[in-house]
Amino acid sequence: MRIDLHTHSTASDGTDSPARLVAVARAAGIDVVALTDHDTTAGWDEAAAALPAGLTLVPGAELSCVGPGLDGNPTSLHVLAYLFDPAHPQLAAERRRLRESRLDRGRKIVMRMSAAGLPVTWERVRALADGGSVGRPHIARALVESGVVASVQEAFERYLHTDSPYYVHKEDMDVLHAVRLIRAAGGVPVFAHPLARSRGRVVGDDLIAAMTEAGLAALEVDHPDHGDADRAHLRGLAGDLGLLATGASDYHGRNKKVPLGACTTDAATFEALVAQAAGCAPVSAGG
Ligand code: AMP
Ligand code: FE
Ligand code: FE
Ligand code: ZN
Repeated sequence: MRIDLHTHSTASDGTDSPARLVAVARAAGIDVVALTDHDTTAGWDEAAAALPAGLTLVPGAELSCVGPGLDGNPTSLHVLAYLFDPAHPQLAAERRRLRESRLDRGRKIVMRMSAAGLPVTWERVRALADGGSVGRPHIARALVESGVVASVQEAFERYLHTDSPYYVHKEDMDVLHAVRLIRAAGGVPVFAHPLARSRGRVVGDDLIAAMTEAGLAALEVDHPDHGDADRAHLRGLAGDLGLLATGASDYHGRNKKVPLGACTTDAATFEALVAQAAGCAPVSAGG
């Protein structure tokens, strides 16, 4: 069983449509794929409708959160939510608020860039996002199109990293509130890439312990942004705290080089996650 529990489509900052994503997943020999777009469930129906035989879809989302970092400063964190009720009113309202904040913040970043003479427009960025959750990767692609940089990666390194003068942060959800709200909506909360250091500050084990108290189910241990030492540390921490340990690619189509299935979750762990879910069920072709 090849199980990949973290992927993005054009409903947020991936480049494959939800329908294409499930086709690509099956062609890559994946048996279970979770669709976890940033702050939205907009891709769920298309992915479910296009599901090829033999592939199971786990409806999910990756929520933009904030919590105290190791240095005490607010740090942006991502929490994966699986199998929650998409109609749960408070969680749906939070997703909407987070998406609206992304719009406002994306526009501000683009205004700072164009004021400094970079050839990028909000119209183009919105067109690239095509109604999905707007993120920095859309701005990065606009910069690639206008020839300022050769790749999305270079756009992040030069213009879009968190210490950049163009960077504006977005409104996020308090991470403990998010974990509780996901549970209230019947979902299963998993801390995404807890030690992805290249993206900026990370958090300490004490916050992970507090998230566990709040209802966290698992740590995403095997992730392309984690080195061996961090994986070993997280696996030990998960064991100490009684959390499950997952693995996933965090596939973003052409916006990143990582292929589907680059990291995976074992079948027993997947079953344990599903057993905790009460908001909706995994979907297979034909029912
Ligand atoms: P945002 O959600 O707008 O803050 O943008 C964060 C997203 O940008 C992440 O979900 C990744 O998809 C992407 N990202 C972050 N750092 C990089 C990077 N160095 N290269 C490519 N994509 C990145
Ligand atoms: Fe992303
Ligand atoms: Fe993430
Ligand atoms: Zn992700």
